[in-house]
Amino acid sequence: MAQTPAAHRINRFHTQKTHQHHAMNTVPEVTPIARPVLVPPGGHKKVLLHSCCAPCSGEVMEAMLASGIDYTIYFYNPNIHPLKEYLLRKEENLRFAEKFGIPFIDKDDDYENDRKEWFAKAKGMEFEPERGIRCTMCFDMRFEKAAQYAHENGFPVFTSSLGISRWKNMAQINDCGHRAAAPYDGLVYWDFNWRKGGGSARMIEISKREHFYQQEYCGCAYSLRDSNAHRKSQGRIPIKLGVLYYGDPATEYENR
Ligand code: SF4
Repeated sequence: MAQTPAAHRINRFHTQKTHQHHAMNTVPEVTPIARPVLVPPGGHKKVLLHSCCAPCSGEVMEAMLASGIDYTIYFYNPNIHPLKEYLLRKEENLRFAEKFGIPFIDKDDDYENDRKEWFAKAKGMEFEPERGIRCTMCFDMRFEKAAQYAHENGFPVFTSSLGISRWKNMAQINDCGHRAAAPYDGLVYWDFNWRKGGGSARMIEISKREHFYQQEYCGCAYSLRDSNAHRKSQGRIPIKLGVLYYGDPATEYENR
């Protein structure tokens, strides 16, 4: 399937808005697989999905669709640096949501201040390793906003695509999710393990099928710095933003 690289389409900066497309001209392609029916906590069918990016949320989205779960994507990730990378990741996620007609909450109406707040909270933790306390802060900040939105907009359950990545500590993410939900009566964080039952493999499969933009670092300025330092120690070139796409033989290994 030919796709226009997202890098060519990044020409706008969204303010908070809901993108909703109920009318679809074509039936979207999904990975054919027999899936067990997923039941969110409490038997609820309405879920807010905090999404970090298209590759991580692709499998989560298709799994929930297959179970008839009514979900909305909440994109709030002021950790992602620089702006070019932030927009690339968001546009890829929005593109995939539009394909299925999934509502997409683009929470960047106060992006500059949110970004400043993220850096202020990370102060003193600049050299913490991934999966350490800076990441706990980073998950907390994003989940607190998602939980608040869920509470204010009638979502009894929220979950996240963050835990599907093998680079992440799922227990750490789940702790943050439960902590974010705790202040709100009736709100539950769904700590489903999206990796199991072949979820991790399908995450890659869907990313290749969709030619998603392939990010090469977790997201913040410090993870970019550390990834580049690691690459340098291996004699590799620094990360180039906006060039690597899953399943694209022309670019897949170019930057390795
Ligand atoms: S490494 Fe990833 S999870 Fe950790 S602080 Fe940076 S962006 Fe957040």
